[in-house]
Amino acid sequence: MDSTHSHKNADSDDVFMLSALAQAAAALEQGEFPVGCVIVQENRIISRGARNGTIPEPGRRAIISEVDHAEIRALRQLESCPYPVMPEKCTLYCTLEPCLMCFGAIILTGIPRIVYAFEDPMGGGTLCDLASLPLLYKNCRVQVKTGVCRRKSLDLFYNFFNKKGNQYWKNSLLEQYVRDQKQHGSGK
Ligand SMILES: [Zn+2]
Repeated sequence: MDSTHSHKNADSDDVFMLSALAQAAAALEQGEFPVGCVIVQENRIISRGARNGTIPEPGRRAIISEVDHAEIRALRQLESCPYPVMPEKCTLYCTLEPCLMCFGAIILTGIPRIVYAFEDPMGGGTLCDLASLPLLYKNCRVQVKTGVCRRKSLDLFYNFFNKKGNQYWKNSLLEQYVRDQKQHGSGK
C-alpha cells in the first residue's frame, strides 16, 4: 500500500474533517455511534454520511447493522449526487479509521485518498497488507492521512461511552482505548 503521510492540504483537511465531525455529532444526538463521513471532490463536499443502525430496538430491529457505516452511507449517496462524480479526484474524510469493509469499498470505488481523525485499534482496516491480496487490491494506490481533528473525534466517542443506555461496543477494547486516550493520551 502506498500509505504516505502527506502534509499538503493541511488547512482544508481540517475544514472538511469538521464537516465529517458534524455528521458524527448528529449521529450521537440520535443515540447512534458517533461516526461521520464526507466525500470531497475538487474542494466541494459532494456526499455525507453518518453511522446508523447501532441502537437496538426490541421488536423492531433485532440486530445491530454492520453495513450502515458512515462511509458506506456516503458512498451510496454518491449515486444521487447532482454533479458528475470523478472518484479519482475525491478524498474521503471519516472521523474514525475505516473498517475492513469500508476500506475495501473505498478502494473499489477508486477514491485514492482517505483522511481520518481517530484510529481504531479494534476494528480499523487501513493497515491491511494490500500487497498480499489479489490484483485489484494489490495494484491500488491509496494514500491515508491520520490524526486530523483527532481530539474532537475522541471527545465524541468518550461522550458516547459515558451516556447510560448506549450499548454499542460497550465494554469493548475500543471503549477501553477511548478512555485510556482521554485520560493519558497526548496530542491533538
Ligand atoms: Zn466501516
